[in-house]
Amino acid sequence: MREKFFDEQERIAPEERQRRQLQSLQEALKRAYDNAPSTKELFDRAGVKPSDIRTVKDLEKLPITRKGDLIELQRSNPPYGGFLTIPSEEVDRVFITPGPIYGPHHTEGISWFGKSFYAAGFRKGDIVINTPTYHMSPAGILFHEGIRACGATVVPTGVGNTDAQIRTMLDLKVTGYAGMPSFLMTIIRRAEEMGYDFRRDFSLKRAWFTGEMLPSSLRKTFEEDYGISTFQCYAVTDLGGCVAYECSEKSGMHFMDEYIIEIVDPHTGKQLPPGEVGEIVATPLHNDTWGLIRYGTGDLSSYLTEPCPCGRTSWRLSGIVGRAADAVKVRGMFIIAKQAEGVFSEFDQISRYQIIIGHKQQRDELVFKIELKDESIDKKNLSDSLAERFPQVCRVRPDRIEFVPQGTIPEERQTIVDERKWK
Ligand SMILES: [Zn+2]
Repeated sequence: MREKFFDEQERIAPEERQRRQLQSLQEALKRAYDNAPSTKELFDRAGVKPSDIRTVKDLEKLPITRKGDLIELQRSNPPYGGFLTIPSEEVDRVFITPGPIYGPHHTEGISWFGKSFYAAGFRKGDIVINTPTYHMSPAGILFHEGIRACGATVVPTGVGNTDAQIRTMLDLKVTGYAGMPSFLMTIIRRAEEMGYDFRRDFSLKRAWFTGEMLPSSLRKTFEEDYGISTFQCYAVTDLGGCVAYECSEKSGMHFMDEYIIEIVDPHTGKQLPPGEVGEIVATPLHNDTWGLIRYGTGDLSSYLTEPCPCGRTSWRLSGIVGRAADAVKVRGMFIIAKQAEGVFSEFDQISRYQIIIGHKQQRDELVFKIELKDESIDKKNLSDSLAERFPQVCRVRPDRIEFVPQGTIPEERQTIVDERKWK
């Protein structure tokens, strides 16, 4: 299994990768169509046969299935929603995620996370605490297998027990961490409270993160203050695995060859070009258990096609910027609530704000309503700085910035209000 992570495989010429992936896609679609009744129904309703899908672009002919659809389908057709492609007695294990969604797995074949741990530098000789849950959800076990596939030793510490994690890290001279960034910070802070000098007393050299955003300020703290090299992985529970991962360049997450990854407009399902933000949609190529295709993750990202200095030739996700449900499209660009909030939080003078989207003379109109902490400040200056800063992050220019009296904007409010009327 280990040769799967050899860099040779990941350095293949892009055209060769494309050729192999298309072939795997056709096989995967046929396998799903022939064996999973729900997948067949989905094709039939769209009037498409697996042989009609000859390119990645052709996938647009098929609808996107999202978490909500999966929950509904499993409820009406228990337990697997008609997506199982093998006889049920051949299922090795079933993971359960909120919904509930039952995810059948076959343990043969690819290790879902090994590539990601390998790219993060995990090797034989490393001792790794694996801190996600080992119950119900696939996280603990799949990460565990990925770490093992790189030859490293795993300590299955699971969730919580900060003090016990700290004792373990000291006693076993733990060199690696797998889990969420916030929990590693909790461990470090607690160790400091206990009187340790983290850098001197601990052996932690690398940390592999998933399940949570890694703000660049936090990454900097880990790397510069504590000497921990950090890596991110983008995993999707309902797909049972790692979809993209960072290499030593830490500049975007390489697509896993085991999926066709599309970035689409969440409203139309149409594919977007590199650099444009849209929803991540993934189709597994080598999952012989589960016939899920075009799974819409609800996560927003864009992708890069430039070659990576690490030598891997796969494209990269530029990072997860938010959830499709929290994003609104304005003049062709998504404004994501979280990103917008980040911009406003840079301006101390603002107490409350709201982003209003309207439509005037065939054009989307973007207006900021702002309440100030102190109304006597230089409004023009603030207005200019905000109008300059906002498009740097959200890529759309505000048309107007209105200052409103204190108390105008309700305390409990949506960040973005879409007032456009759709006919
Ligand atoms: Zn790379």
